[in-house]
Amino acid sequence: MRKNIVAGNWKMNLSWSEANSLSEELEKSLSDKKVNCEVYNFVPAIYLKSLIDSASNITIGAQNGYPKDAGAYTGEISMKQLKNIGTKAILIGHSERRQLFSESDVFLREKVDEATRQDLKIFFCCGETLAQRESGNFEGVVIQQLENSLFHLSENDFKKVVIAYEPIWAIGTGKTATPEQANEMHKNIRQAIVEKYNQEIAEDTTILYGGSCNPTNAKDLFSKSDIDGGLIGGASLKAEDFISIINTF
Ligand code: PEP
Repeated sequence: MRKNIVAGNWKMNLSWSEANSLSEELEKSLSDKKVNCEVYNFVPAIYLKSLIDSASNITIGAQNGYPKDAGAYTGEISMKQLKNIGTKAILIGHSERRQLFSESDVFLREKVDEATRQDLKIFFCCGETLAQRESGNFEGVVIQQLENSLFHLSENDFKKVVIAYEPIWAIGTGKTATPEQANEMHKNIRQAIVEKYNQEIAEDTTILYGGSCNPTNAKDLFSKSDIDGGLIGGASLKAEDFISIINTF
């Protein structure tokens, strides 16, 4: 059975004292009450070690990692180093990295392979731009992203992957995909997994929705047949909002 997951993506936000207070508040709420989903937070790299060491109810993940073991890559952090400090999960393919840092499908595939080698749980993001949606071929665009960077994994490695469908036009814009639009894409993704792997693997794959998900719209989104939770940007920065989204399950 697939797992429900709510994951926060803090992006490049929060001072250390804000990050620490938010974490403490979330940990406290989650230890006071049983929740029906797994909770992850993808935090800025400089906060990883400390938050990993203090977390008990939340799995802390990295927003990025470089797919080489070591060497002359000034400013980069290897996935091996991430693993070495206790990181369990990594975001790969987020649209901000694709667009602002020109990460290509080929590079993302290298990242997927290295994350697999380091046994980091991959949260693989995919999604179309507004122009691609309006062109009508947005489903093809998203499936191609998966084909190019993810679907080469073996069955065993693919079973550990979480997919996050994040229409780019909905990220940080306040425009959410309707639950029907999102569910339709999730079904397409699941069908592509059936075709590439098999029915059982497809049924067991967690597919998250991301894009202006908030306490008001989370329930409608998460109640859809193929939406297994959310990757949450803005609303993960406020404990009350994030907890309210978690409690949707
Ligand atoms: C994201 O960046 O992954 C995201 C979903 O952001 P937001 O919730 O702010 O749209």
